[in-house]
Amino acid sequence: MKLLQDRIIEDGNVKSGNVLKVDNFLNHQMDIELFNEIGKEFKRIFSECSINKILTIEASGIGIACITAQYFNAPVVFAKKAQSINIDGDVYSTKIESFTHKKTYDVIVSKKFISPEDRVLIIDDFLANGCALAGLIDIVRSAGATVEGIGIVIEKGFQNGGDIIRNMGVRLESLAIVESMDAENGTIEFR
Ligand code: 5GP
Repeated sequence: MKLLQDRIIEDGNVKSGNVLKVDNFLNHQMDIELFNEIGKEFKRIFSECSINKILTIEASGIGIACITAQYFNAPVVFAKKAQSINIDGDVYSTKIESFTHKKTYDVIVSKKFISPEDRVLIIDDFLANGCALAGLIDIVRSAGATVEGIGIVIEKGFQNGGDIIRNMGVRLESLAIVESMDAENGTIEFR
């Protein structure tokens, strides 16, 4: 997606530790016009799929998922990061290691909000090592529902998440794939 790549070049900030900061338009301040184009693009890519639910994870996925959901006329469910003491039998839960915070979270979705007949599109802002996506796929499959596809805004192609998730036999589409980036001189190359 050219518009997105241009924006990453213009406003993205390469940090050490393989972190790309896009706080200006995606992760803190949100450019809703751009989000709209992202939502339209996901709809175009997954137009053949019958999707009746969108699943994301708090916090950064929520905004993109909500705008995207308008194009699918589907509700959004977001997985919540929980304290383990709160986990009871009414929720699906999985463990996710956060790439940016280096911390493991229990993540939950109420059983009320995913059922076997659901055909789910998973949406997230970034794909790095694939831990967040693997957790979300686990939740959908625990519910007996189907993962119709995964839409990612920015995939860091030099990390292994893309391969891991594609090897699980799930359709994964990323709107921008960063092939390499350099914290020293700030350069970003796309696949
Ligand atoms: P993964 O589970 O694939 O290792 O990491 C995905 C999650 O980590 C995303 O939900 C995103 O919030 C966060 N993340 C991973 N890499 C980056 C990055 O380079 N920049 C930002 N802003 N978030 C990232």
